[in-house]
Amino acid sequence: MRLEGASASHVGQARDNNQDRALYTGTLGAVADGMGGHVGGEKAAAMAIAEFNGVRGVLSEQRLIDVVQAANRRIYDAALQPLLRGMGTTIVVASFDPVEQVVTIVNVGDSRGYLLREGDFRQVTVDHSLVEDLIREGQITEEEARVHPQRNIVTRALGIMPEVEVDAFAVRVQAGDRLLLASDGLSNEVAPDGIASILVETTSSDDACRQLVDAALAGGGRDNVTVVVLDVVEDGAVVADASSAATLTPVGEHADNFLADIPRPSKRRLPLRSVLILLGVVVVLVGASAGTAWYARSGYFADELDGSVAIFRGRPGGVLWFKPTEEELTEIRVDELDGASRTRLEQRPVWSTLSDARDFVDNLDTSRLESTVVTATPGN
Ligand code: MG
Repeated sequence: MRLEGASASHVGQARDNNQDRALYTGTLGAVADGMGGHVGGEKAAAMAIAEFNGVRGVLSEQRLIDVVQAANRRIYDAALQPLLRGMGTTIVVASFDPVEQVVTIVNVGDSRGYLLREGDFRQVTVDHSLVEDLIREGQITEEEARVHPQRNIVTRALGIMPEVEVDAFAVRVQAGDRLLLASDGLSNEVAPDGIASILVETTSSDDACRQLVDAALAGGGRDNVTVVVLDVVEDGAVVADASSAATLTPVGEHADNFLADIPRPSKRRLPLRSVLILLGVVVVLVGASAGTAWYARSGYFADELDGSVAIFRGRPGGVLWFKPTEEELTEIRVDELDGASRTRLEQRPVWSTLSDARDFVDNLDTSRLESTVVTATPGN
């Protein structure tokens, strides 16, 4: 098997420069969506793509993550120049391993990787964005996210911090599979059903790219739009025919449980030191830093701290360089909670006020503790 692909990019109807970049090398596709200043956004996206343009051969998941992190470091260092200060970029990369017949997708930010298989269209990647967090918290729907005024705010990007956490997804592919990488200029303008229809109805990856860009422009084209379409084809085959697929199934769900052989994203935790050197870094992301700051500090949640339940201010996992801060440490020991309470704690619901978070903590059930506490009696 091999990949056959194409890419397309358009400035859109509203922006005056294109800060998206795309790459297709024959075994690898990538999309980067730059942000932060007129020069910086383009520069950051181009740097991220350049990092992959030079690599050859089959890339392991770890190697892909290493290349993304190298790009991050390079962009971060370049962003120390005044003219480029605050620049950053998303990245999504899909790399094909013909021996294992696996496509590995890595991502940072809200550029997406999708898979179309036999008419079933799913988003493989999980966005690192404000609206994705709001969807996860049940505050807005996917439809509302596409028109949300802060839909451009990403919670992770290359170039913002010296280290970055990269998600990775391995998809065991079969001939006929069609992969799509896209910047948010597509997903914010075209509903998932519309994207899926184009992927099903077009034959060549070239046509698919062109029609996807056209659909984004017809939808408003308020942002740069960039797509890479990758077809998995048998050696010798002319092109995958995704149009022979069965009926299209509803989309919108992430691919978490789509295929048994798509593992959960690999989490690469940030070294603690990266959190410590962020003060003083001035970053302006699409003019939204105030909104990001507000959002990042707007909630309260409970989590474990040194074995006890603590209340934190901020968002679980943090938003960009805004890390949650400890608000209150309680005397409740996590290992004394019953199973249901521990599960509720692990879900880390976010409350809008401190008193709501306190109520939540007060209602965690420590009855198991109370029933097993034995009054100590002085021994001899
Ligand atoms: Mg964009």
